[in-house]
Amino acid sequence: MARVYNFSAGPAVLPEEVLKEAAAEMLDYKGTGMGVMEMSHRSKAYQAIIDEAEQDLRDLMNIPDNYKVLFLQGGASQQFAMIPMNLMKNKVADYIITGQWAKKAWQEAQKYGTANAVASSADETFSYIPDCSDLPISEDADYVYICENNTIYGTKYKQLPNTKGKILVSDVSSCFLSEPVDVTKYGVIYGGVQKNIGPAGVVIVIIREDLIPETCLEGTPTMLQYKIHADNGSMYNTPPAYGIYICGKVFKWLKKMGGLEAMQAHNEKKAKILYDFLDNSKLFKGTVRKEDRSLMNVPFVTGNADLDAKFVKEAKEAGFENLKGHRTVGGMRASIYNAMPIEGVEKLVAFMKEFEANNA
Ligand SMILES: *Cc1c(COP(=O)(O)O)cnc(C)c1O
Repeated sequence: MARVYNFSAGPAVLPEEVLKEAAAEMLDYKGTGMGVMEMSHRSKAYQAIIDEAEQDLRDLMNIPDNYKVLFLQGGASQQFAMIPMNLMKNKVADYIITGQWAKKAWQEAQKYGTANAVASSADETFSYIPDCSDLPISEDADYVYICENNTIYGTKYKQLPNTKGKILVSDVSSCFLSEPVDVTKYGVIYGGVQKNIGPAGVVIVIIREDLIPETCLEGTPTMLQYKIHADNGSMYNTPPAYGIYICGKVFKWLKKMGGLEAMQAHNEKKAKILYDFLDNSKLFKGTVRKEDRSLMNVPFVTGNADLDAKFVKEAKEAGFENLKGHRTVGGMRASIYNAMPIEGVEKLVAFMKEFEANNA
């Protein structure tokens, strides 16, 4: 078995330990004589899996009791519609546009009401986070929306925006569980799990209870109502059962690793190795304003598209996979999520040094 160093932005690397455990339980989960994929979601064994997953996530993120944790389907993109359908009481919301995902969410919200772009970093290819200390927040905004870590561009909010008392809704798909968060600062935190937690198809929504509406915008499908899922413990219909099981295993792995403080230290150490190299390289350079750099997604370029392509090709041959940048940015991107070991980044940097020497 040869595992590569997988720098994919998502679906992405998972802890090897988790994959091995899941493999061992594939045919017979804890003496039930069946695998989790084959199990009724109404069974005792499955109920224990989802309950434990929720509790472990609550422990990791210190989620207060007045927040619901929902395990839903449809990926992060489905939330682009679900959020306005459930939260747009006044039919007004403010969006901060820091990349493609925020832009897509903003465009989707326009179907349901007035979605204002109150700030944007589109003018410089989303290479920075705008100053959000005094934005023209709408008087009657139902919420302010951000994408907290911009997977494609490699930026991250280091300070949450001043929402002037409005509810903050945050897409944390690509920074989920990468560092501690203060849940109480948010109305809704949500993310697709395939970047940092588990298999694609699960999206986790953490929502303050009082924000879950009795009624949604007219015509909202039953499946897109938070209340239905909250009232049914994420089991109104068959949940993405196997995906939730893997997420649960990752939560346990995170706890064993020391929780989110330890994960933050680990991620800062990894990112520093790569950023320090980029800052001193004569060939490679980072594309993001320093103070807004993400710990999870690190885009970089040589400034020469042919050389970029050569690098990606040679890196792949050397066992470093998925380093090609997003098609809208070009260059390279190394996604170094929780499960990427430090030696993966160290070896990548050693390879980059060698490439630099060979291509000077
Ligand atoms: C990947 C990603 C999405 C889209 O996720 P899907 O599950 O494919 O819908 C949305 N937001 C962010 C920040 C992402 O990284």
